[in-house]
Amino acid sequence: MAVQQRKTVVTETTKTETTTTSTKNVDHQVGKTWGRDRDVSFGTILISLGILVMSPIWVCYTYISCNGYECAMSAPALEIYNAPDALVALKTLLARELPTFSPYAARLFFTWLTLQAVLYAFLPAQIGYGQRTPAGHLLPYKVNGLLAWVISHSIYAAGGLYFGWWKLSIIHDNWGGLLIAANAYGYFLTFFCYIKAHLFPSHAADRKFSGSFIYDLLMGIEFNPRFGKYFDFKLFHNGRPGIVAWTMINLSFAAAQYEKIGYVTNSMILLNLLHATYVLDFFYNEDWYLRTIDIAHDHFGFYLAWGDSVWLPWLYTLQSHYLVRNPVDLTPIQFAFIFAVGFTGYFIFRSVNHQKDIVRSTNGECMIWGKPAKVIRTSFVTSDGKTHKSLLLCSGYWGLSRHFNYVGDLLISLAMCMTCGTKHLLPYFYIIYMTILLLHRIQRDQTRCKGKYGKFWEEYMKVVPYKLIPYVY
Ligand code: NDP
Repeated sequence: MAVQQRKTVVTETTKTETTTTSTKNVDHQVGKTWGRDRDVSFGTILISLGILVMSPIWVCYTYISCNGYECAMSAPALEIYNAPDALVALKTLLARELPTFSPYAARLFFTWLTLQAVLYAFLPAQIGYGQRTPAGHLLPYKVNGLLAWVISHSIYAAGGLYFGWWKLSIIHDNWGGLLIAANAYGYFLTFFCYIKAHLFPSHAADRKFSGSFIYDLLMGIEFNPRFGKYFDFKLFHNGRPGIVAWTMINLSFAAAQYEKIGYVTNSMILLNLLHATYVLDFFYNEDWYLRTIDIAHDHFGFYLAWGDSVWLPWLYTLQSHYLVRNPVDLTPIQFAFIFAVGFTGYFIFRSVNHQKDIVRSTNGECMIWGKPAKVIRTSFVTSDGKTHKSLLLCSGYWGLSRHFNYVGDLLISLAMCMTCGTKHLLPYFYIIYMTILLLHRIQRDQTRCKGKYGKFWEEYMKVVPYKLIPYVY
């Protein structure tokens, strides 16, 4: 391999500061392509198996806690623990509390899925582009989620309030049956994508084979499974049936609370407001989402297929399930405090993500916090052997830490949970989960970016040493 001089690369848009270092040419590309050919250890396979088995059990457990025990998380476990015969108690509990199949709920779920697929495929759309994939593809995506959200919610509201086709609490009222239907679909999609990846992949060179069936099933093989040019499985399932439903589920649970106690608590209103802000922001900035880790990094397996179909709609909305069973009336000070935490988080989240987007779309020719953006100009090689250019922002929020956007997300998540008061732990599942997810994501991203950018990433880590919170972590 040639040894050559490399230009680094802290650029202020008007002034280029250049240091010269000796390094091997594209040394980060040798042998493996970044994001591919991962060696999977036995430990990773065991953890993967644990996730495959435990995730559905956990979703069912939370359903049982809420449905039968007013969302008291420990209650079902204690009932079994305290029973003279734990096995008999477990069987009795499951027979009594497990959700059952309902043809009506199944029709509801599959009508919803079909509606979202039709809206995704046929609504007018802008075409957005993701990041270049490791095999060198730059894929187009249909960006029309905001319109799909508006139409879906209009149908839901008109059907419930004007035509009387259903009660607004329809989702709450069919929650168990919907859970069964969503699971059936989530599993079908997981296995379908596993088989598709082997038999008729959309982009064969962008597949990742780990050598482990369990790991491949969990994390996926295909990077961008598609039907035709535009029906992208990842964007559709990440962004449509589950996320459009997120706000609708909350509204339905708010309607159920109204039916139950005669009014909607201010905590439920605040929760709906926080979730709606997050969801609408997602759709308003859908084009930005194409260049986040979900789309630019993750392959499509159980993690996303089942996760988007079941985990997200069931667990991200836990707080509204809780508030139906345990109405909380916040004092004006509590309300104002939670509102402030939530919207401070949102402000940070949006501003950080916007800085990255703007610096990339202007190729670094922009102002960040009133000063020319400081960037590290990088290059990387895709598996087709071509070299591409990119840049890493290292001023503004991105100079504070490498993932300051996660701080914003954690604050919003905390505020969502705080709407439920402090009586029970279950509604705090979301912030606990988000903390684990994002801390783990920092590690994953670190591995990926190091593989992709090599020495440039190390340079960046020296300029921006903190991962999340400046001077702390
Ligand atoms: P980022 O949007 O931070 O994306 C990370 C990627 O950005 C890296 O892989 C790299 O990709 C690029 N990058 C890294 N550093 C820089 C830099 N200094 N300048 C420019 N580009 C850089 O992370 P996520 O995709 O995880 O998150 C996006 C948002 O979504 C976050 O706000 C997060 O909190 C939120 N989120 C929400 C979840 C939820 O379930 N509610 C789950 C996960 C995330 P490359 O160089 O290849 O482009």
